[in-house]
Amino acid sequence: MPAYCDVALPVPLDRAFTYAVNGVVPAVGARVLVPFSGQRLMGVVVRVHDEQPTDGIEIKPVQQVLDEAPLLSDELMRLAAWIAQYYVAPLGEVLRGMMPLAAEVRRQFAYRISEAGRRVLYEGAAKGASRRSRLPAEDQNREYAVLNYLEDGKAAKASALRSATQARKALLDGMVRKKWLAREALAEERDARRTERVAVLVPDARIPKLNENQTAILAEIAAAGGRLRVTALSQSAALRELSVPASTLATLVKRGLVAIEDAPEDFRLGGLPANGKKHAHEHVLNEAQMEALGSIAAAMAQGGFKPMLLYGITGSGKTSVYFAAMQRALDAGKSALLLVPEIGLTPAMAGQMFAAFGANVAMLHSGLTPDERAEQWHRIRRGEARIVVGTRSAVFAPMVNLGLILVDEEHDSSYKQEETPRYHGRDVAVMRAKFNDAVVVLGSATPSLESWANSEKGRYLRIEMLTRVMDRPLPTVELVDMRTEFKETGREDIFSRPLVEETQATLDRAEQVIILLNRRGYSFTVLCRSCGEKIECENCAIAMTYHKPVIGTDLHAHPGDRLECHYCGFRRSVPKICPKCQSEHLYYLGAGSQQGEERLQELFPNARIGRMDRDTVRGRSDMERLLTRLHSGEINLLVGTQMIAKGHDIHGVTLVGVVGADFALGLPDFRAAERVFQLLTQVSGRAGRGDLPGRVLVQTYHPEHYAIQRAAAHDYAGFVAKELEYRRWMHYPPASVLANVIVQGDSLQQTAAWAHTLGRWFAAARLNNVRVLGPAAAPIARLKRIYRFHFVLKAERRDVLGHTLRALLAHAQSDEIPRRNLILDVDAVHLM
Ligand code: ADP
Ligand code: ZN
Ligand code: ZN
Repeated sequence: MPAYCDVALPVPLDRAFTYAVNGVVPAVGARVLVPFSGQRLMGVVVRVHDEQPTDGIEIKPVQQVLDEAPLLSDELMRLAAWIAQYYVAPLGEVLRGMMPLAAEVRRQFAYRISEAGRRVLYEGAAKGASRRSRLPAEDQNREYAVLNYLEDGKAAKASALRSATQARKALLDGMVRKKWLAREALAEERDARRTERVAVLVPDARIPKLNENQTAILAEIAAAGGRLRVTALSQSAALRELSVPASTLATLVKRGLVAIEDAPEDFRLGGLPANGKKHAHEHVLNEAQMEALGSIAAAMAQGGFKPMLLYGITGSGKTSVYFAAMQRALDAGKSALLLVPEIGLTPAMAGQMFAAFGANVAMLHSGLTPDERAEQWHRIRRGEARIVVGTRSAVFAPMVNLGLILVDEEHDSSYKQEETPRYHGRDVAVMRAKFNDAVVVLGSATPSLESWANSEKGRYLRIEMLTRVMDRPLPTVELVDMRTEFKETGREDIFSRPLVEETQATLDRAEQVIILLNRRGYSFTVLCRSCGEKIECENCAIAMTYHKPVIGTDLHAHPGDRLECHYCGFRRSVPKICPKCQSEHLYYLGAGSQQGEERLQELFPNARIGRMDRDTVRGRSDMERLLTRLHSGEINLLVGTQMIAKGHDIHGVTLVGVVGADFALGLPDFRAAERVFQLLTQVSGRAGRGDLPGRVLVQTYHPEHYAIQRAAAHDYAGFVAKELEYRRWMHYPPASVLANVIVQGDSLQQTAAWAHTLGRWFAAARLNNVRVLGPAAAPIARLKRIYRFHFVLKAERRDVLGHTLRALLAHAQSDEIPRRNLILDVDAVHLM
């Protein structure tokens, strides 16, 4: 029997800890409770072995083994190890992120009397309580009560046993140790699915004389085929008419005519029943779609790991290809996982999945309650749900026989987790496919440069869909030079004259308009004209956004006039005078979506205006309501932040206006141009998806910038070529690998000193193959009261970068810089 086990704990330390096996040898992948610096922590066993630890420290025993079988499969354990290695993250923290929730693994135990227990029971009955027992008499009596209860030899649920005998858990544990009882897990794992009570006619029961009420109930159950949910029974019109009391059913049960069983509740999905409706993505695929599907299907048939990039322009019908590919996986007896961005999993999407795949579908997203999540998790793990759709963390779903992973809108930054472990869901998806010999398809109209570069190098097979379905044209894109506009009008209007005219014309034709105004709130800066200071958040080095109180039809409760920090949520009332210099000349700068909406109302008093941003869309149902109103045409003018650019397929939209999207070009982030290009392309892609062609007007102060130019020309390849050139010159990904190292702390001095210390180490280490920028104050120098400095590391090779980061951690440790004050962000998506 192995004497030790190594346990990964959710602490910011890059190592596992050794504990002595205590009776039960835990399985690798099982959870255990162990003592750790005065606390009790839950960890995951990563190795069991016999190697006596040599460093002379005291080895403590495991306190409790929580799982008999591993909770994480071998495959997921391997994936965790890869994530820890690749992202230089503590394995325990990676595992914590992958673990199902407590509700998903709550277990039920049952107890059964053993031969030894039976002997004790009979001897005890003959001789009275054993005088040698150290237990108080009261507990001894309880033990007999327990044995008595179990005498018939059947297993009893822990909950039933304890309520019948008042026996504490510790007492039962003691009886298990004495081998009087056997404890067994009731089910392989707890079925977290909600159950409901079903009344069942007992076959061959001799029917005695019954009263009218009793007969009515039996007739009702018989009419339903001998089984009927108790809730349905109580709602039955016939019984209600007779006003049959609930106790009648109980009487029938007592007389052995009806039995009550627990049955799993019908599978439901956010209130969507299975209706067998034909789903929106069941089209006869066009040639390009067939070809794409053919490539995916061929790879699945061939077997083995195959990564692919599906580059399909907006409106080329990627979703239909995903659906068809998932069906192929099902047909081949495999399961398929579809990852979607945070905002992509709308109830409409869920409804279509359900219409297409019925009870085969499971959904994993942040809107589920723990119990709902648990239900989904178990259905997946039991292999009942073989089609899984979910957001980022669904990449860890306990899939059975995984054959296909699809990553929709693979460029979307919501796949990047911005807390430890800072993994990228897309890249983890690729690795997971690799460990499963599965096919993985990354789909986008604007692939990330990383994925594109991988397809250029032949690492990913590239599939292209370069036309819209039904040969619909891409919209024409025109630029409106806002510098000229200002010169000619002498005014700083949010909306240019061409955009106002086109909007009016479009509304007049009874078509729909979408306008992107990519900042929420009313004004995003409050500036003092006397001292030049912006009003900043108390907790962050960030200008606060002005939000107007909302009056009128809006049903959400809003606080009044306020300034809000969009990073930490801090709010304050709007000052009358500058907090720095007491001047009264406060100036509100920069229009957000709220102001945009107000201005549009003035310009188009007859338009039916809707707004989509994080102030109006708090949850999935808000989103759904807005989309329904758009689809029906109830809203004909929608203004909003980048939320409006994401995948929506609204056929009546023929005009898209873009306001201030080029502002982001000025941000200190090497991905700025890529983001602007993606946003422009995606939002343009919302126009002309129906029978009528679309048009896009982009207001810009940088009309000559290549990101704007190439987006206007629908020239992804041209943009990428130019952008890759810049990345090569500047040694940025994908021309290099990059990590952002953040040094953070609540004392400015201390944090700066740490940054300085690490900077000196970098200088002294004279790293050959790593470029180090910094230390510098992070672009957001203070966030949620934490000061931040950073280094950007760029290397030619992944192994060199990893090696450097580990060396850095070792150095930080020897210099007593706490691990929690260092953030390593490998393949950082944001450098802010
Ligand atoms: P993408 O995600 O590539 O932008 P979608 O998958 O949303 O495109 O599809 C765009 C629209 O075209 C949807 O309304 C979809 O129902 C429709 N569609 C997809 N494939 C076909 C097809 N083969 N024939 C007709 N319509 C299609
Ligand atoms: Zn001032
Ligand atoms: Zn803040």
